Amino acid sequence: MRIVLLGPPGAGKGTQASRLAERLEIPHIATGDMFREAAAEENEAGRRIRKVMECGELVPDALTNDLVRWRLARPDAQDGFILDGYPRNVEQADTLDGILDDLGTKIDLAIKFMVRGSDIVARLAGRRVCPVCRTVYHMDTHPPKDDEVCDNDGVPLIRRDDDLEETTLRRLEVYGQQTRPLYEFYGERGLLTEMDALGTTEEVFGRLLAVVGR
Ligand code: ADP
Ligand code: AMP
Repeated sequence: MRIVLLGPPGAGKGTQASRLAERLEIPHIATGDMFREAAAEENEAGRRIRKVMECGELVPDALTNDLVRWRLARPDAQDGFILDGYPRNVEQADTLDGILDDLGTKIDLAIKFMVRGSDIVARLAGRRVCPVCRTVYHMDTHPPKDDEVCDNDGVPLIRRDDDLEETTLRRLEVYGQQTRPLYEFYGERGLLTEMDALGTTEEVFGRLLAVVGR
């Protein structure tokens, strides 16, 4: 299956995508994770990406689209994938159609994660990530077993720079202006399914499995 996950920052897309990817045995492709890796590099490209991300803006489309084109051509993505954080505007969605066309395939399903504004704020404020294995935690709802260190490798968890309040507000604005139009884009093509993303991770995962027919 070729699945696109849509929703505001903090909706729980990454949390669910990694579980679903495991269940369906297809890769979880998160452009945010790929850019965080690039941003950690001490070179010109890394610095430029870091600056964009710290401001809560989108990385330029040309770069983003090239990255996704490369990733989707890899052997592990030929039987399906879950895209998380891409596309994020109509230009990217159009490009994705073109990329898949070239590969002789298409998107099966776009799933919209429905959450309330108050939940987004709470989810982003409490989010912590492991800088090594990228596992996502929440200090209230999914805390690590030991105070502020990763369960997998014992490394201190970090708060993403772009989860600080000011950047969060800008990211939500960018989402509203650029990403929201994608609901119409995929709706018009008959590919969009809306899913309630409130409740526990287990409850949401159950709904997600039903949406993908598992
Ligand atoms: P996104 O990828 O959409 O930005 P994440 O998956 O990183 O969102 O989730 C944002 C935060 O919310 C994380 O701290 C995560 O642990 C937490 N979270 C995810 N799903 C739920 C849920 N169903 N209930 C409560 N907290 C959740
Ligand atoms: P995310 O992890 O999806 O919340 O993304 C974190 C940041 O990475 C975003 O705020 C953007 O700066 C950048 N980013 C991730 N995906 C994209 C994309 N598809 N297009 C442009 N920028 C992106």
